[in-house]
Amino acid sequence: MSFSITPLLVGVRNVDQGIMTWQRGYGKRIWLPMWSFLLREKDGEGRLLLVDTGLEDFVPPQEFVDETGLHAQLMEDALAQAGVAPGDIWGVINTHLHDDHCGNNLLFPQAKIFVQRAEVLACRNPHPVDYRYDDSYIDGVNLVELEGDAEILPGLKVIFTPGHTPGSQAVVVETDEGPAVITGMCCNQENFPDSGPAVCPGVHCDAYAAYDAAQALKALRQAGAELYPLHDLTVASRAKP
Ligand SMILES: [Zn+2]
Repeated sequence: MSFSITPLLVGVRNVDQGIMTWQRGYGKRIWLPMWSFLLREKDGEGRLLLVDTGLEDFVPPQEFVDETGLHAQLMEDALAQAGVAPGDIWGVINTHLHDDHCGNNLLFPQAKIFVQRAEVLACRNPHPVDYRYDDSYIDGVNLVELEGDAEILPGLKVIFTPGHTPGSQAVVVETDEGPAVITGMCCNQENFPDSGPAVCPGVHCDAYAAYDAAQALKALRQAGAELYPLHDLTVASRAKP
């Protein structure tokens, strides 16, 4: 079974590169896009899923539009542009529960929301260091709590990659052009240089585990998968038919 991938730009922030790359790139301001990935099952029931749901509310700065040529939209508008109603979404995979990855979960009360149990626990009882959790985004939704690697549908699985957060998960999607891996951890292409090891994400709860997870993702790329760093601008041009 294969899937098409349509990236939806559903949030933007302006941050320091060091938020992405630990001990690298500090002092460089970057645009941080928040992507939701619309997946469509190409055979069978044609089910629709989202990987992450972006920011709940934001105003894209004009400088972002001027500098990147990209247009960020609220989730409802991005879905409408893709010809999809919120009620059409069968499932949502939250790579983790920071607010920029689950901010629109409540738009999908009918959907199964696939998330790691360790992440739900972190969101319900966050460490004071981590201000990015808001458990109102998982209240009243149809949570399916996973423990470790899991198949969501044929051709679609998650792999447990803790370290950025306690329950981060990456998503492996079969496409007609081969496997695509959506990283799960917050990162951009600077985390995956062509030579040398992958760079630990700048935000992490366990730097050792996050570093190891980044190496595992880079190894998947070296084995032929296409890697989608969650916050990279190049995702804009990497839809899969
Ligand atoms: Zn993020």
